[in-house]
Amino acid sequence: MANKTLNLDDQLYNYLLGVGLREAQVLRDLRAATEGEEMSVMRSAPEQGQFMALLLKLMHAKRVLEIGTYTGYATLWMALALPKDGEIVTCDISEQWTFVAHRFWETAGVQDKIHLHLRPALETLDELLAHGATSSFDFAFIDADKVNYDAYFERSLALLRPGGLIAVDNTLWGGSVADADNCEPDTEAIRAFNEKLRNDERIELAMLPVADGLTLALKRP
Ligand code: CA
Repeated sequence: MANKTLNLDDQLYNYLLGVGLREAQVLRDLRAATEGEEMSVMRSAPEQGQFMALLLKLMHAKRVLEIGTYTGYATLWMALALPKDGEIVTCDISEQWTFVAHRFWETAGVQDKIHLHLRPALETLDELLAHGATSSFDFAFIDADKVNYDAYFERSLALLRPGGLIAVDNTLWGGSVADADNCEPDTEAIRAFNEKLRNDERIELAMLPVADGLTLALKRP
């Protein structure tokens, strides 16, 4: 019996998905459509998508910011969890991958809730800030290029209402963050980001070993 989080083997992970995952058919289809694709490792884990959907419902979230759309799998989980008048502003630079996303958002009938901005996310975030969107979002999900994590976080924090939540993906980065010999730029960026958040008085912090590491930061009033 362990009192720390288990490193799941395939057998236990499949059990977890078997008893714990309620994935809509359209989500399963999207996952299947991107399986084996060059960048399929970038898709969020299904149990993580479900967890974020639950968080949105718990918070009665209406406005969501997503940085890093990829094929829109996490976007779709969140869009399905939002009320009819909910909205997701999602940022990506890849026309190729978000093209796949559009198809499944339409199938699910949630395309009207999703606004995709195809250009560098920092431009979109700065424009939102310049146009008075400060403190207007309930939830933000950061899952894009790691060297910009801090810049995404700072802007997301400004765009979030007090009591709003930021979820940051890949904060354990395959374990490399704990390996002092790993000096890859992405690893260094995530490591510095994690260390910054540890002492950040503006937030409540929880760091979960879900999927590749999921950090939750609640904006204090
Ligand atoms: Ca990710």
